[in-house]
Amino acid sequence: MPPANSTPTSASAPTSTTLPEHIKTGEEQRQADKTAPSTDGVSPSAKEFAQPHLRLHLNDLPDEGTSIFLSSVSPSTLLPSAVSQVQKALYVHPDDVFHMPSTRSVTLIVRPMGGVAYTTGIDLDPEQHKEIHFSSDYIAGISPDRRSHEIEGVIVHELVHCYQYNGHGYAPGGLIEGIADWVRLGAGLAPPHWRKGDEVQGKWDAGYQHTAYFLQYLEERFGVGTVRRLNEGLRTSKYEEKPFWTGILGRPVEQLWEDYKGQQASDEGKDHKKGNES
Ligand SMILES: [Zn+2]
Repeated sequence: MPPANSTPTSASAPTSTTLPEHIKTGEEQRQADKTAPSTDGVSPSAKEFAQPHLRLHLNDLPDEGTSIFLSSVSPSTLLPSAVSQVQKALYVHPDDVFHMPSTRSVTLIVRPMGGVAYTTGIDLDPEQHKEIHFSSDYIAGISPDRRSHEIEGVIVHELVHCYQYNGHGYAPGGLIEGIADWVRLGAGLAPPHWRKGDEVQGKWDAGYQHTAYFLQYLEERFGVGTVRRLNEGLRTSKYEEKPFWTGILGRPVEQLWEDYKGQQASDEGKDHKKGNES
């Protein structure tokens, strides 16, 4: 049976790479100028970010999952478009363009391994050069009608890890994973087993779709760009729960989570009533 979702196993824990500030090279400065907030009436979303150098390694060509990967997606178009989606989702604020990490290369490695996928930095320069390891065994187990959708969804999730900030290494893993799945959700790539109503149990930072739907609620409540502001907050300071949430959204996260749960419960009541009426 295929794994139920795209959650990396403990054996393939996601990276918690720090993405510190760095001095811009000439090329990056030109790019930063290009993506600076518009003063000519052109929306920042119309401007393009720098693409990293994109590479693909297929470690075992005769492997079943590898050939399924190649017949399900077109990597040379999928990767640049997924990178661009991630960049825009995290850095194009309606009123601003936030500072993006200068990730210089991303290598997608499709290989037999346990789990689903994980992202890491290469030893020589972990901040600027990323590797996404994607399990061909997992790909082989995806149901045929969902292959391209699921492969793309996993790649978008992992690419977020190549471009997001982590509160100088102190953000909860659940927030990091939640942001990755919030981008996946926004890209229309949620797997069929994700259900908003199922996500209100437990803590706000349980991660993945659980936190992604909470972030979606915050985006609706506080306006488009809210998650980008959170990511920007994870760039500028070391994460400390109380000042982080009250500084950006004016309330502690526990209170926001309670509000979210309350809204979910009332939505569910409405759905239930609607169902009874029809
Ligand atoms: Zn992840």
